[in-house]
Amino acid sequence: MRTLRRIITTGVTMGIATAVALTTGVAGAGAATAAVRPLPDNSYGLSSYYGPRCMPIKGASTYHLGQDMSAKKGTKIKSVAPGTVIKAGSAPGFGQVVVVRSNANGGKVFAVYGHVIDGDKYVKTGKYVKRGQHIADVGSSGTSTAPHLHLEIWKRAYKGSGSTTDPLPWMKNHGASLTAGAAWAYKRVVPTSCTYYTTTRVNLRSGPGTGYRVLKTVNVNRKLTAKPGAGSGVWRKVTYSGTTGWMHSSYVSPGLTSLGTRYVTVNGLRLRSTPSTSGKVLDSLNRGKAVKKIWDSSNGWVKVYVNGKQGFVATKYLSSKKP
Ligand SMILES: [Zn+2]
Repeated sequence: MRTLRRIITTGVTMGIATAVALTTGVAGAGAATAAVRPLPDNSYGLSSYYGPRCMPIKGASTYHLGQDMSAKKGTKIKSVAPGTVIKAGSAPGFGQVVVVRSNANGGKVFAVYGHVIDGDKYVKTGKYVKRGQHIADVGSSGTSTAPHLHLEIWKRAYKGSGSTTDPLPWMKNHGASLTAGAAWAYKRVVPTSCTYYTTTRVNLRSGPGTGYRVLKTVNVNRKLTAKPGAGSGVWRKVTYSGTTGWMHSSYVSPGLTSLGTRYVTVNGLRLRSTPSTSGKVLDSLNRGKAVKKIWDSSNGWVKVYVNGKQGFVATKYLSSKKP
């Protein structure tokens, strides 16, 4: 109820109290606005939560604006509340999306359904949808690694002057706890630090824009650290080798970029922790073993990825052709 009261207060303060009169069957008289869960009970898991996070894949946000509900591809998505479709189709990042505007006890609320298979298969912009109406199917379109529904709740406006709110308490306060309907849920933990890698040779700048000073030029596959949520738009605030600055998110990835496969030409080649014969031995590789090149060191060593480990081997014992 606390959240609901806040919505009402905000609505009045913002001078949109007239929205109360527009309520179209969302709310009972004076009662909490009822919602329904967007996916069938026990058909989904809570996989990624609202708030700061490490970006799961290149291009993903570092502040998660929604709740991810992992589910089988094709699972039917229902509108959590009645309202008007304001967007149905493609959108950057989401791939395919449906956005529904509802009037909830004195304010506008927007539910955003991201990564669906086909945004305008069942609904069209401008059409009214009922609470619980089938509006789309779970997909993995856009920036996504596996089928899931990405649910956002916006207040006042969708983008612009609007703001997002955590869908978990919002849904719970509207009588449809997502936690109660989930088959499973990951633990909600925010890591203290994220590890990323450069995807190419890229500039580390003093601010979030190409007009800012270049602090350092960083080579490909160099390790960066970042605080979850540290960024501005498409820019990420990262630290490289003690220098903190900004990089465009297109060049920052949670995984390494392979620069090609190389083959070991001798038996018992040592994988070492540093580019030197005094480096700790991490593994021993035999002739013909394939390794992924990460980067070349200037002194005759190359950093590689093999057997789940990163380490250095002498360049002269690798070949681009399989022996
Ligand atoms: Zn998401």
